[in-house]
Amino acid sequence: MGIELDILPISSWIPGIKHPLLIAGPCSLETEEQVMNTAKELVKDERVHVYRGGVWKPRTRPGTFEGVGSVGLEWLKQVKQETGLLVGTEVANAQHTEEALKADIDVLWIGARSTGSPFVVQEIADVLKGSDKVVMVKNPLNPDVQLWMGALERLNQVGIKKLVAIQRGFTPFRETKYRNFPSWRTMIELKRLLPELPIICDPSHIAGKREWIYEVAQKSFDMGVDGLMIESHIDPSCALSDKAQQLTPPELGAVLDRLVIRYANSGNKEFEGQLGKLRDRIDSLDGELLEILAARNEIVKDIARYKLENKVTALQIDRWSKMMEERTDLAKGLKLNDFFVKILFQLIHEDSIRQQSEIMDPK
Ligand code: PEP
Ligand code: MN
Repeated sequence: MGIELDILPISSWIPGIKHPLLIAGPCSLETEEQVMNTAKELVKDERVHVYRGGVWKPRTRPGTFEGVGSVGLEWLKQVKQETGLLVGTEVANAQHTEEALKADIDVLWIGARSTGSPFVVQEIADVLKGSDKVVMVKNPLNPDVQLWMGALERLNQVGIKKLVAIQRGFTPFRETKYRNFPSWRTMIELKRLLPELPIICDPSHIAGKREWIYEVAQKSFDMGVDGLMIESHIDPSCALSDKAQQLTPPELGAVLDRLVIRYANSGNKEFEGQLGKLRDRIDSLDGELLEILAARNEIVKDIARYKLENKVTALQIDRWSKMMEERTDLAKGLKLNDFFVKILFQLIHEDSIRQQSEIMDPK
């Protein structure tokens, strides 16, 4: 499905941005003191561009902290005034959106629970019509790229061009290490469908625990994201939500120091040239691999014809076991991975049996 959205790059709203986009701040805004102290620490790090904080918190179960509400917008305005950082919060209905626009919040994001609801997204989009705000869309809870894209389309249709997608992981269907499992495949599919769309990663909500934030963030850069949203609290031990996954501002700095940021293109001509040459070699070797497979197929067909004449079955289990053994021995000598070679020959052999059966029992 060919779809084109009119999307502006991050540099259109952060001119001259040098580092990947970084959004940091507490899960929830709790008190004026917590908000301001966290912000004053975070602004010291020039890698932080946007201060985040949840004002209305979507909680899975009732009876937990649901956010301070509108007063939080006043604190965000204060952060903007005193630190010069851009500020952002989550909006989940028309009223939140109206209030956030009135408070001149720079970045509004749609949370994972809302993205999956087209009515909610449309209601938010209708309020945003004609505004120039940056709007970010977290992935829906299930890895449905169409639903994620649909939300982005609804916003683009009302004229929002400063759009960003955020991968925050998906609800796991079994016990997993992380709180929400990252689906890089879904993210890459979104990028394929909308190549102009900046995509960032929220490793805090994926990891669920602070010790795994670094590894998820690194993986996301390896997958080519344009930035990160990370939860940071002045004192996570007394946070009112997502306690286990928040980092103090110095801990955040330490995570950022360790990250190796990889770019889709290096901008280094010599490197691009070398990479091009190596890729040419891979391309020609892959061509040879396929030619060898095609030659192998011709022999497979001859075998099938002989077997047919002599009334022998397509699958001969002794031959198959012996062949597997020999191939894996050979592969070991060539320093190829055992498991990989086994799977590869299982596939090759399966296909060979399929072809032989076709010749022996034509439909
Ligand atoms: C959040 O960013 O604090 C939040 C609630 O995130 P999500 O919508 O990804 O659960
Ligand atoms: Mn949170």
